[in-house]
Amino acid sequence: MELDDANQKIIGSETVTYFNNSPDELKYIWLQLDQNLFQKGSISSLSQTGAINPAGMSSGAVQNLGTPRGIGLSKEKEYGYNITSVRDKAGKPLKYTINQTMMRIELPAPLRTGQNYSFNVDWNYNITEYYGRSGYEFFPKDGNYNYFIAHWFPRLAAYDDVSGWQNKQFLGGSEFTLIFGNYKVAITTPNDHIVAATGECQNYKQVLNATQLRRLDQASRSKTPVVIVTQAEAEAAEKGKPSGKKTWIYTAQNVRDFAFASSRKFIWDAMQTDVYGDGRKIWSMSYYPKEGNPLWGQYSTRVVEHTLKSYGNRTFKYPYPVAISCHGTPGGGMEYPMISFNGGRPEPDGTYSEQVKAGMIGVIIHEVGHNFFPMIVNSDERQWTWMDEGLNTFCQYLAEKEWDYNFPSRRGEPQYIVDYMKADKSLLSPIMTSGENVILLGPNAYAKPATALNILRETVMGRELFDYAFKEYANRWKFKSPTPADFFRTMEDASGVDLDWFWRGWFYGTEPVDQDLAQVEWFQVNSMNPDVVKAEARAEAQRRANTVSKQRDAASKSETVVAKDSSMRDFYNSYDPYTVTDAERKRYQDYLATLSPEERKLAESNANFYTVTLKNKGGLVMPVVIRMEFEDGTDSVARFPAEIWRFNAGQVRKVIATDKKVVQWTLDPFQEIADIDSENNSFPRRSQPSRFQLFKQQQATRPKNPMQQQKEATQPPATQGGRKN
Ligand SMILES: [Zn+2]
Repeated sequence: MELDDANQKIIGSETVTYFNNSPDELKYIWLQLDQNLFQKGSISSLSQTGAINPAGMSSGAVQNLGTPRGIGLSKEKEYGYNITSVRDKAGKPLKYTINQTMMRIELPAPLRTGQNYSFNVDWNYNITEYYGRSGYEFFPKDGNYNYFIAHWFPRLAAYDDVSGWQNKQFLGGSEFTLIFGNYKVAITTPNDHIVAATGECQNYKQVLNATQLRRLDQASRSKTPVVIVTQAEAEAAEKGKPSGKKTWIYTAQNVRDFAFASSRKFIWDAMQTDVYGDGRKIWSMSYYPKEGNPLWGQYSTRVVEHTLKSYGNRTFKYPYPVAISCHGTPGGGMEYPMISFNGGRPEPDGTYSEQVKAGMIGVIIHEVGHNFFPMIVNSDERQWTWMDEGLNTFCQYLAEKEWDYNFPSRRGEPQYIVDYMKADKSLLSPIMTSGENVILLGPNAYAKPATALNILRETVMGRELFDYAFKEYANRWKFKSPTPADFFRTMEDASGVDLDWFWRGWFYGTEPVDQDLAQVEWFQVNSMNPDVVKAEARAEAQRRANTVSKQRDAASKSETVVAKDSSMRDFYNSYDPYTVTDAERKRYQDYLATLSPEERKLAESNANFYTVTLKNKGGLVMPVVIRMEFEDGTDSVARFPAEIWRFNAGQVRKVIATDKKVVQWTLDPFQEIADIDSENNSFPRRSQPSRFQLFKQQQATRPKNPMQQQKEATQPPATQGGRKN
C-alpha cells in the first residue's frame, strides 16, 4: 500500500488467503469496510440523534465522531472505500456486494472445511482527520501531517460457532470483531517519514540510515530508552521535503489486525528488555512529535514496558516481539495489535498539569494493555464493549497502582462509580448491553465493570482466589474468542466461589448498592446474681423517681405528715426492697451449680449482644462490612458474605456479640462496595453539615498549571530565556 502524503490518501492492494477452519461449508465470505462509516448516508450518520452528548461522560471516540460529515471532513472530498478490483488468484473478477460497512464476496465454489481460498482486492480512500480511532493530525505551524492509520484495508469478518458470520455494521461506537492472521505489509511513504507498525520491520537496513541503525542496535541492549531519531533530527525533517519514496516492510504473526503510524515529525525512542526475566527480550518503543515533549521522552517507553510487566504478571507473558506507543492527538487513545495511538500533550511552553501527565501515563497503560484484552483474549468488541474495556480498565487500575501507589486513577475505586450508579434511570443500561446502544459508554463499559472486578477482588473473593481465576480466564481464552458467559463461568470454575448473584446484580442489572443500617438493639444476659440485678433495679427506680414534681416538693421544704409524725410510720417506711438477702444469695449459688462451665462464664461475662437490622435499599446485593467502635476507643471490623441476604434480599437481622460496649456502628467503613448513600451507613446516625458558600469565586480564564506558576515565581519575565529540551 502507499500513503499519499500530498493528498492524504491510501492506495492499497491486498492478497488474502482465507482458511476455513469451521465445520461448515462457506458459499461466501464477508469482509469489513470500516472506512464506509464516513460515506454519505452511512447508518452511523443517519441514525445519530440529538446534538450534544447529554452527560459529557461518553468516550472521546464517540464524542469526536460527530456525524461523518462533521469534524475534519472536507466538503470537496469523498470518503469511504473506493473498491477498484476484487479478483481471484487467476485475475478473474469475483462477484461482490457492498452493504454499508460490509462486503460479501461470492466464492466460485463452496469452501469446505479445511480448505483455503486466495483472492485480491484493490482499493483507495481519502484519509479523514483523526476521529478517535484513526486519521491524520495536521500541524498548521509547520505544515506537516502525522498519520495514524487503522481499519485501512478490507478485513475479514469473523465466522464462529456462536454467531456464524459476525457482520454487525460498524457505526463507529462499538469496535471490532476480528480473527487472527499472519500479515506481510509493504508500506510506501515519502522517504523522510518514520513508520511505526504492527509487527517487526524486515528491512530496517534499507529504510534507516547508518546512525539510526547504530542507535537501534544500542537500544537492543539497553535497559533504558535510547533515542533512534532525536528531536533535533525530527525538527530538521519538519522543515525539509522528501526526495522520493521509501517502502517499509513489516510482518506480524497471529494478530487480529494491522495498523501503522507515519510522519516526518516523529521522534523515536526504544529499548529491548527482558521484561519477564526469562531471557526473551521485547521491544518497547515510542514515536512522538516534538509537541509531546518533555513528557513523551521521559515516560512513554518506560510506561510501555511497565504495562507489559504488570499485565503479564496477572495474565500471561506478552507473546509479541514489540509494543509501541505513538503520540496521537492531544487527548484520548486507541489500540491495535502491538501499536497504540495515545494522547497527553504538554502546553507549547513545555509545562503541563498533573492531570495531563496522569492522563498520558494512564492512557498509555490502557492502550498498551489492550494488547491483552482484546488483541489476544479476542472478545467480540462489536457486541460486548465491556469485555475488553472493562477488563482492561481493571488491569489498568492495578498497573497504575504498581507504577505509583498515589497514582490519581480515574476509574476502579468503588467510590468513583457512585455518581453513575445514582444517575437517572433513563441514562443507565446493564453492562450486558451492546456498546452501540449504551448512553454513558465510559461509566457503563469501562468504569462499572472495572469497579465490579475490583470489588470482586478486594471484598467478595479476596485477592488470592480472584487473581488465580482471572489468570485462568486469560490463559484459557488467549488467541480464542470468549463470550461473557465464558468469563463468568471461568471465574467461578477456577475459584469455587458462587458468583451468580454478583453477575446478576452488577452485569445484568442497573440497581445500585445502598445498604441501610436501620437499627441496632442492645441486649445483655440477665446474670441472675441478686447483687447485680438488685443494684441495677435500684438505680432504675431512682431514675424513675426523679420527677419534676418530686424535685419541686423537695425544694419547697414543706414537711409532710409522715415526716412530722413518727406514729404515721411502719415497717415499709424503712424497708429497702433492693437489699439482697442471704436466701437470695443462696438461691443464686444453687442456680450457678446447674450451669455448665461455658454457661457460667457467659452469665458472669457481662457480654453485649446486638441485633443489627440491615436494609438493602439500593437493590444490588453485596457483602456486609461493618465497623464497631467500642467505648474504650478501640474498634473491630466484621465481614459477612453476600449470602447473608439469601432468604430476604430486602432486609436481614444479624446478632453480633462483643465483650466491649459498642458506641458507634458504621457500614462500609473503607468505601469498598460503592454504596451510593453513606448517610444511612451509621448507627447512631452521624449528621454531616451541608456546606454553603458565602460568596462565589469566578474563574474567568484557565488557571495556569502549577509548573507555570512556579516558573513565573522563580523567573522574572525580563530574564526569561528560551525553552530547553
Ligand atoms: Zn480501551
